[in-house]
Amino acid sequence: MGREFESLTAHQKYGILAMIILIKKDADASQVENLKGLLRSKNIEPHVSQGSLQTVIGCVGDVAEIDPGLIEALDVVESVQRIQEPYKAANRKFHPDDTTIDCSGVKIGGGAFSVIAGPCSVESAEQIIEVAKAVKAAGATMLRGGAFKPRTSPYSFQGLGKLGLEMLSEAKKETLLPIVTELMDFADIELFNDVDVIQIGARNMQNFNLLKEVGAYTKKPILLKRGMSATIQELLMSAEYIMASGNPNVILCERGIRTFETTTRNTLDLSVVPVLRRLTHLPIVIDPSHATGYSYLVDPVAVAATAIGADGLIIEVHNDPPRAKCDGVQSQTPAMFASTMEKIRKVRATLFE
Ligand code: PEP
Ligand code: MN
Repeated sequence: MGREFESLTAHQKYGILAMIILIKKDADASQVENLKGLLRSKNIEPHVSQGSLQTVIGCVGDVAEIDPGLIEALDVVESVQRIQEPYKAANRKFHPDDTTIDCSGVKIGGGAFSVIAGPCSVESAEQIIEVAKAVKAAGATMLRGGAFKPRTSPYSFQGLGKLGLEMLSEAKKETLLPIVTELMDFADIELFNDVDVIQIGARNMQNFNLLKEVGAYTKKPILLKRGMSATIQELLMSAEYIMASGNPNVILCERGIRTFETTTRNTLDLSVVPVLRRLTHLPIVIDPSHATGYSYLVDPVAVAATAIGADGLIIEVHNDPPRAKCDGVQSQTPAMFASTMEKIRKVRATLFE
């Protein structure tokens, strides 16, 4: 576990929010008073609620220090119930303010909005530099491009690997855009020195060893994509793995989930934004490209995601989508992207600035 996790109080670590003590029906008032005294001696303020059938004592605070077994063993107590949530570091209850994450100078979260754009995969230095310049001119603040690609078929283009990362670095030098790219295997981490944001893809969202290794190794921002059949709680638990290992800089990314619907590549439930906003303080990014699978859907979904309050977008843009080695059907051209950015700016200006 990372040092930051270790320095949390037990309350923060284990997320125990409250404890409810059910008092036996035949308990007398003096026994209840003794129990209240015991709780107070442990800095817990007891809230007694006396019904006609049952008395309940509610305890809110750092109840993690109390062994519920000891309380339960008392004569006067019928049962003890602890209320807790399994994710702590990511939990808004322990961190009420929105988190702003600094991605090599580009901020995201807590009112800062950022658009990551670029091709699904890096194909050549010319391609990535051309796209990087185009998306920057249109207003993108970070450049995406996959060098290690998680493809469904072993016969599909797997990405240029190390060479692809070098091309991304060239594009970064040319445009000064921070780069976002996927890490599939921790064995490659040393190649990622010049990478500004490490993407953990949908297929690896529950690769817990990878999450732990990357969280312990670096404090670079991690863009964590929701698994295609992961619940929101599972997404938060995966963020928790990274944070509990020592890296608090997690950006959550919704990219659609798999449902019975086949018209779109995945199904995007945009209510995930306000839902996550309530549960966590971490920034939330929407990926309209993988969520829909079709370039004509990227623009309206990107606009809607902006309006619903996402902290950012990640959009696939290719200079020649029909010839893209990966995800051409969902890739916007630079012109389409520029038009989407125009709308996004208007939405941001109208609703949030
Ligand atoms: C990608 O970003 O190109 C990608 C493979 O995304 P996901 O992990 O969401 O499928
Ligand atoms: Mn892709």
